[in-house]
Amino acid sequence: APVILWLRQDLRLSDQPAYAAAAAHGPVIPVYVHDETIGGPWAMAGAQKWWLHHSLNTLSEDLEHKGLRLVLRRGDAAREIIRLAQEAGTRTVHALHHYEPWWQDVERVLASKLDLVLHEGTRLTPPDHLRTGAGGRFRMFTPYWKALLRDMPPPLPVSAPAAVTGIEGALASDTLADWNLLPTKPDWATGFDIWTPGEAGAKAALKRFLPEIEDYDEARNLPSREGTSRLSPHLHFGEISPATVWHHCAKAARTKAEPFLRQIAWRDFGANVIEVLPDYGRRNGREAFDDLPWRSGADADRDFEAWTKGMTGYPIVDAGMRELWATGWMHNRVRMITASFLIKHLLIDWRRGERWFWDTLVDADYGSNAVNWQWVAGTGIDANMFSRIMAPLVQSEKFDAGDYIRSWVPELKHVQGDAIHDPEEAGLLKPKGYPAKIIGHREARERALAAAREARA
Ligand code: FAD
Repeated sequence: APVILWLRQDLRLSDQPAYAAAAAHGPVIPVYVHDETIGGPWAMAGAQKWWLHHSLNTLSEDLEHKGLRLVLRRGDAAREIIRLAQEAGTRTVHALHHYEPWWQDVERVLASKLDLVLHEGTRLTPPDHLRTGAGGRFRMFTPYWKALLRDMPPPLPVSAPAAVTGIEGALASDTLADWNLLPTKPDWATGFDIWTPGEAGAKAALKRFLPEIEDYDEARNLPSREGTSRLSPHLHFGEISPATVWHHCAKAARTKAEPFLRQIAWRDFGANVIEVLPDYGRRNGREAFDDLPWRSGADADRDFEAWTKGMTGYPIVDAGMRELWATGWMHNRVRMITASFLIKHLLIDWRRGERWFWDTLVDADYGSNAVNWQWVAGTGIDANMFSRIMAPLVQSEKFDAGDYIRSWVPELKHVQGDAIHDPEEAGLLKPKGYPAKIIGHREARERALAAAREARA
């Protein structure tokens, strides 16, 4: 009987244990189900849909070269897989294990109705393999990382199946065009052409980055340089396995790869947190923060809009928000600065920022996004504090963001020297059409600290 290869955010053929196992067991039916509502508020959003469209396009070509036809179905994921199994006369489904709570629900349903074989391969190690001395799950990154290191290296990538066969005859399939995944908003996604979604694009990104890896620890914080790997959307969609990344990096740089590999481990840690606390995207890690007096109403809405549009009057914040809108990605240091600005300077609930990132990031990932927003907010299960407030102008100077700002904020493109970090202070604003700061740093800081005191009271 044929076997179903159920693909989700694991759109690759190399080091794909579910694909290798399926190929060894019978004619393979690869399927992707576009479930538009799964995840509820975390249903796949705009920027990711763009990526998905192109990634599936290249995957179906890669599969065709192997003689396999990718079946595309739309609807409730569990129902569609069960229906496909009936049509194909099989009970066996191979898939990789995923950690989002909604995928775990579907995996449970399918396991009760069919022979679902789950394989690991989306993380360096299954997060529940790592335990504290007392046998519990980790809640802090550093001890998680130490335990992970003891468990490393990850398994060697599984070799591609020597031979694979498809089924006779064709099963019904949608076309990608039926799904309307590409964005229609006119000024959006203008810079998405920097990306090459798909497995070949992922491999090329890794190859570009490997010679840089030894400089990563220094370069990673400098948004004006391309010092990071830009692998995040490829990893999110599973176009390359984290184990493959690990082995290539360790070979290229040995111990000097560690700062980079530590970041890959943050992605694993995100999966760990949402497995332990599935509501982490909507609930503060520490209840004490449920009473924070977040701003709401027309003024807050206006400020939120200025933030999304990159019109706050803080050049580093605005550069980041504009990069995000145009390219679907933002430099990590700038993600921290923009997120902190929304939460602390504007005193707007981190969940509104999380939503915006969810819609606009090509790498939007439930675990990573929630863990990082709560980390910046200081509301999370880790030790970060709400009262730690980033000074965006200081950050901008410290990490030498001048050229980054000039490239993303055209109104400031001719501002020379250090004035770029705070052109208002340098008296350079009005003629350029760039806004004044929507709130002063000191005023904002005092308001945030007062809010933190109120929450604690
Ligand atoms: P590199 O520096 O080259 O890192 C390599 C890989 O490690 C990344 O591709 C990513 O998979 C992983 N990684 C690096 N840093 C982190 C981190 N802090 N947390 C989790 N994984 C990390 N990352 C996402 O993948 N999806 C998100 O939705 C997301 N939301 C974020 C929200 C905020 C507020 C912040 C501060 C960070 C967020 N990040 C998110 C983490 C980080 O910014 C991105 O992973 C990184 O910028 C991606 O660029 P890169 O691939 O060049 O990273």
